[in-house]
Amino acid sequence: MSQRKYLTFGSPQIMQEEKDLVMECLNSSWLGTGPRVAEFEKSFAHFKGVETALAVNSCTAALHISLIVANINPGDEVITSPLTFCATVNSIIHAGGIPVLADIDPVTFNIDPNQVINKITSKTKALIPVHFAGRPCEMDPLMEIAKKYDLKVIEDCAHAVEAEYKGKKIGTFGDFGCFSFYSTKNVVCGEGGMILSKKNEDHSRLKVLSLHGMSKDAWNRFGSDGFKHYQVTECGFKYNMMDIQAAIGIPQLQRLEKNWLRRGEIWDRYMNELQELPIKLPSKNDENTKHGLHLFTVRVNEKRSGISRDGFLDALHSKGIGCGVHYLSIPEHPYYQQKFKWHPDMWPNARDVGREVVSLPISPKLVDEDVDDVITAVRSIFNFK
Ligand SMILES: *Cc1c(COP(=O)(O)O)cnc(C)c1O
Repeated sequence: MSQRKYLTFGSPQIMQEEKDLVMECLNSSWLGTGPRVAEFEKSFAHFKGVETALAVNSCTAALHISLIVANINPGDEVITSPLTFCATVNSIIHAGGIPVLADIDPVTFNIDPNQVINKITSKTKALIPVHFAGRPCEMDPLMEIAKKYDLKVIEDCAHAVEAEYKGKKIGTFGDFGCFSFYSTKNVVCGEGGMILSKKNEDHSRLKVLSLHGMSKDAWNRFGSDGFKHYQVTECGFKYNMMDIQAAIGIPQLQRLEKNWLRRGEIWDRYMNELQELPIKLPSKNDENTKHGLHLFTVRVNEKRSGISRDGFLDALHSKGIGCGVHYLSIPEHPYYQQKFKWHPDMWPNARDVGREVVSLPISPKLVDEDVDDVITAVRSIFNFK
């Protein structure tokens, strides 16, 4: 194990199919938004059982324009989880809204519907549930709350491409479902995102907003049926996906189930072979749901585990294993403390989880020997053979 190569956390699995498709794209000289993006959108929509999907260049972009189409105006409040990536909260701020955090359930790490109810005011306009680690949020109570208080729902599905709740695909509950194809996610384009929207008119507006606010996209403009003028109908953004990105994503989508099964094997090995250690493993999955298995997070509590979380991270690093922290709770960061007067103690469940979590490697690229090494390394920290 001493001369093993460093195991980089979240290292993407890139196969020959991706390389071939990217080369084909480069050789075609069509690099921008074109036929591969259209194919990627179609495959994604098909996988989700919906009519259309819009590819963009990140999940952050997806969240931003979804909030705009959800009609978030200055002063409107948007409720989300304190245990998420900063992009969830930043997108609310960029759209002009005021982020409001509702604490998580310490068992599921997902937003607690009862805490959401406590945060609702006359200014609340939308809710962003984050399906943490790929575990579906409790969509029944959340959608009930949204209906009762007339809130738009924008699902942050960055971890949850494969996830399902009671047989229904994640991202199809809310008005919008936003996905990420960043390099560490379950489907990888390098950078990339996708938006599902319930209403066709929302899809059309998202499409316009994602490309400068232009009424016809560049593909139509420069297609074989001659020059077409475009009109700018609103002040949009540069959020479109490139064909090169889609060329990486298309084969990834075809391997979705295979990769999910592989991560399931790794997940089960961690559950079995780390169970007697003084760390907390992920809690049992809810029945009637499919977990996206994006992150395998353990909790290291200094009192119970005899080592601090950061000590654990350092120890694994020195053994050649790269890990992640998902996430320090949002109010730990100075920007939000200064801007909103937030303090981590205001959301104690997210604070405690954020200070104790470590994500172990679970990329489908890991071979059995890599998984052996992770298990041996973690066990040795606690003096287990
Ligand atoms: C990765 C991530 C995002 C942002 O995705 P990008 O595609 O990198 O913009 C948003 N929310 C969560 C929960 C994420 O993990």
